[in-house]
Amino acid sequence: MSSKKFSEWAKKEISKSGPLRLSKAISAALIHPDFGYYYSKEIIGSRGDFITAPEVSQMFGELVGAFLAYIWDVSGKPSNSLFCEFGPGRGTLSADIYSALAQISPQFSCSPLHLIETSTSLRDIQKTTLRGQTVYWHDDFKEIPNQPLFAVANEFFDALGVNQAIFDGTNWRHRLLDFDTQFELITGPILKAAELEAFNVIALKNQKKGIIIEYSPKAVQISTEIALHIKEFGGAFLIIDYGKTNQMGDTIQAVSNHKPVDPWSNAGNADISHWVDFDCIRRASKNAGARFVGPVSQSQFFTQIGIKQRAEMLASSEHPEINRALFAAVDRLISPAHMGNLFQVGLIIPAGEGLPPGFQAE
Ligand code: SAH
Repeated sequence: MSSKKFSEWAKKEISKSGPLRLSKAISAALIHPDFGYYYSKEIIGSRGDFITAPEVSQMFGELVGAFLAYIWDVSGKPSNSLFCEFGPGRGTLSADIYSALAQISPQFSCSPLHLIETSTSLRDIQKTTLRGQTVYWHDDFKEIPNQPLFAVANEFFDALGVNQAIFDGTNWRHRLLDFDTQFELITGPILKAAELEAFNVIALKNQKKGIIIEYSPKAVQISTEIALHIKEFGGAFLIIDYGKTNQMGDTIQAVSNHKPVDPWSNAGNADISHWVDFDCIRRASKNAGARFVGPVSQSQFFTQIGIKQRAEMLASSEHPEINRALFAAVDRLISPAHMGNLFQVGLIIPAGEGLPPGFQAE
């Protein structure tokens, strides 16, 4: 909303307690109630700063709905199931999921909808998109009732913030946000034993001077909470995000008006995000006693669960322009040149065997 307000906040914090952890700075830039970026009105969509998969095509949500309906089915159709979306943006994904469920799984479509959303202005947009439907909003996952949970998060984990560490040739040190005449990233204190463990330094093969690694404390906290919930009460959590399976590199980036910009001088005014480390989510899920499946590419997942067949079903012989738009959307979602390989899909489910559709070996 305002990079000036972020700047004032950050300078005050820095003068009070020293250079900032990056996860704290990112969270403030995105979800601080006074100036957080997600509180501005038009951020997602062609008139906003970036477009997400559910905004590309209804097929994205319909297929996610069909997938979760299948998992619900093979889980024994628990009658008291809840449906939950994390970081629903404009509410488009949940709306498309429910319209698919109404057709293919009417019983499951009666499950109440819970949305995890901190932004009051996005809640207003979601209210409009999802009018006619009973919705329960929450600031965080702790408020979710103890019942079987079928959940999805698209481009949510990439907004949770990361901390960074840099290797100085001998030790790993924190990489922190400081302000002198402008914002700058500085090398801070040496990581303590627990921090080295959190960054999973042990998994690094060769440590060269200058290497940067990342770790998202909130991603671990949230995936642990959900994995514990699913282990105890059943269900499934589908995670879709751009990411990889290691902690390597400085992946923090910012986008404004569909173009890359410097994160810190635009903080509050731009969408700051980072790559998701799916290995870290896998470790957290397993430590909590649940199972993590994948990640596989968005291309593999949606091809295997039938996006091309769905596009053919929706195609109309009378309206060639509709068909062109449909197949262009499929291409955008699954081709490696667009979102197909960059985006990954992972699944948290109770311990067990076998691979659901979407995740089977090619
Ligand atoms: N899933 C949507 C929007 C992605 S943008 C889509 O695909 O279009 C990220 C979303 O996560 C926004 O709704 C934002 O307000 C929400 N969000 C970000 N950080 C959050 C946090 N810590 N807690 C709850 N919601 C958060």
